[in-house]
Amino acid sequence: MEFNLDLTNKVVVITGAGGIICGGIAKALAPSKAKIAILDLNLEAAEKVASEVNAIGGTAKAYKANVLEKASLEEVKEAINKDFGTVDILINGAGGNNPRATTSNETNEVGVTYEKDFFALDESGVRFVFDLNFLGTFIPTQVFAKDMLGKKGCSILNISSMNAFTPLTKIPAYSAAKAGISNFTEWLAVHFAPSHIRVNAIAPGFFVTNQNRALLFKEDGTPTARTEKILAATPMKRFGEIDEIMGAVKLLLSEENASFITGTVIPIDGGFNAYSGV
Ligand code: NAD
Repeated sequence: MEFNLDLTNKVVVITGAGGIICGGIAKALAPSKAKIAILDLNLEAAEKVASEVNAIGGTAKAYKANVLEKASLEEVKEAINKDFGTVDILINGAGGNNPRATTSNETNEVGVTYEKDFFALDESGVRFVFDLNFLGTFIPTQVFAKDMLGKKGCSILNISSMNAFTPLTKIPAYSAAKAGISNFTEWLAVHFAPSHIRVNAIAPGFFVTNQNRALLFKEDGTPTARTEKILAATPMKRFGEIDEIMGAVKLLLSEENASFITGTVIPIDGGFNAYSGV
């Protein structure tokens, strides 16, 4: 059954909304009557999503924003306040991994030479991934949650990941940063409970998007060994479809249905997190 979310007169800010998951969330929110601010470093991608939302009867506008630059976010907030009003809902979607923070080998054996092992990881790549995923949620929350103080029905949704529960091999910075996001979600939920701001997260399992395509498929489109391992560890034996994220998103954003839900991280993973592999 379709779950209709009513966000009439609500202003929703989505970061990383030019991307696959958050662009999908923006489109799923189009019928809710929310006014949606589509933020992305890539303005062209944000504009494409905004026009798609508007084409299906929603209200959206694209803004170029870097989640790591507070001053740029404050400027964007001013523009959003002028265009739509003060912010009610923030979805912290910008994030992702980077090859510079990825090892070539899953485990380390003494005496074996690897293309790029743990010891060769570039510190600046690790910092890039940690900043994007952790500070990229922290800073926008500082900027946009200010608008929520003193209002009712406000909430924040963060995007964690499977690797927050148990780290995935090869991606230590991304795993640690997403564990930080789950932890920060709980911290914010406690901190803002008296201010009536609910804070939750979703932890998507495996969905094919721009940031992980190269890890999942070879250049010729055939699955990598990692894809085979992921599917073997996913009891439903498939990747998720972007639409399958929307039920949890709509539930968590719904004041009517989730008024007592705060500080949760909901896995959307085809059973990956529940499966020990045996
Ligand atoms: P994506 O690459 O399609 O989208 C990410 C978007 O963030 C891009 O449009 C990019 O331009 C934008 N972005 C990057 N740096 C930015 C910055 N500094 N400021 C503003 N925008 C910036 O990836 P996606 O898979 O849709 O990722 C969305 C979120 O979901 C991320 O937080 C990611 O870590 C998380 N996630 C993805 C998966 C998956 O399987 N794809 C699983 C778990 C969690």
